Amino acid sequence: MGEMQDYGFETRAIHAGQPPDDSTGAVMTPIYAVTTYKQDGVGGLRGGYEYSRTANPTRRALEDCLAALEDGARGVAFSSGMAAEDALIRVTCGPGDHVVIPNDAYGGTYRLFKQAFQPWGLSFTTASVHDNAAIGAAVRPGQTKLIWIETPSNPLLGVADIGGIAQIAKDAGALLVVDNTFATPYLQRPLTLGADVVVHSTTKYAGGHSDVVGGAVVTASEVLGQAIAVFQNSTGGTAGPFDAYLVLRGLKTLGVRMDRHCDNAERVVDFLTAHDAVGQVFYPGLLDHLGYQVASTQMKRFGGMVSFRVKAGAAAAAEVCDRTKIFTLAESLGGVESLIEQPATMTHASVAGSELEVPRDLVRLSVGIESVEDLIRDLDQALTG
Ligand SMILES: *Cc1c(COP(=O)(O)O)cnc(C)c1O
Repeated sequence: MGEMQDYGFETRAIHAGQPPDDSTGAVMTPIYAVTTYKQDGVGGLRGGYEYSRTANPTRRALEDCLAALEDGARGVAFSSGMAAEDALIRVTCGPGDHVVIPNDAYGGTYRLFKQAFQPWGLSFTTASVHDNAAIGAAVRPGQTKLIWIETPSNPLLGVADIGGIAQIAKDAGALLVVDNTFATPYLQRPLTLGADVVVHSTTKYAGGHSDVVGGAVVTASEVLGQAIAVFQNSTGGTAGPFDAYLVLRGLKTLGVRMDRHCDNAERVVDFLTAHDAVGQVFYPGLLDHLGYQVASTQMKRFGGMVSFRVKAGAAAAAEVCDRTKIFTLAESLGGVESLIEQPATMTHASVAGSELEVPRDLVRLSVGIESVEDLIRDLDQALTG
């Protein structure tokens, strides 16, 4: 992988960790549907593989590719984004410790801290991702092990200053974790800005075709990456070879897909901001967005996720979601197809009544890569009713 760092992003996406197969010359990484590996004499492992929970060549190719794309030392691929988050927290924290998490985040991440880790004895404080001072104030020196941020965040597209928060984490002796699911390494590489760990739901843009659930952790440190791999071998939340293959296949086109997602999202944002039925539009590329300056410096472009408020209220927002024909009413995001949803009743229903509650008139779009004129016409008819 070492020399791959000299190549550009798209070259790494297609080649890192994926040399042609030694035994057959196959240009694509085979799906190693295998559990165990013949040993050349007792203790004589061929190519380092002994059992597929411990390591599998297809999964390893994905892990090496993700590490190369994020400029990290080690990638570890999991069966889901949540399994990746769970392993990372258990390796880096223990009962009695404390973490700082964003007040605008993937609902499942909040639920993980609240329902799985709070009873375990891990306390957390939520803080605004826009506000370095608030994050700094939430840190408890000696007790805070992680500062966790998502940028852009879900669903309000808040932007966190990765470099500034990395310094706060360093001063506090905590690790900075960045959920890079929305931006992907094509648009933003947190480890190069001082973050210690990146987590992904590869279910989203990395896979890119809404046909696989997966997750990953990429670490700046080889030691931490190795500890997570050992933990994964002990607990078993691995990505299967077919799932690993699908994500690997998705990564090859990540760059071209992200550019089109961004092109289409920008056009949709222009349309929405000019529409009478639409209230505030949330997109990091808007000049009046709170995080515009920071996003402009740490991101290549602003991504494919857009949220907006419907002026006529929550019921009208639900009707807009019901009326679209190309935008499919569904949870999840990051696939080639456009999706629409109402976070308050769908993806973020689990944070109702908490400090992460989102406006009920909010609609979230995952802008796909269909013909943008069709997407805009679809939204227009849905907003007009
Ligand atoms: C979907 C998602 C997750 C969880 O990943 P799964 O693959 O669904 O387990 C975590 N973070 C963000 C930002 C997500 O969108």
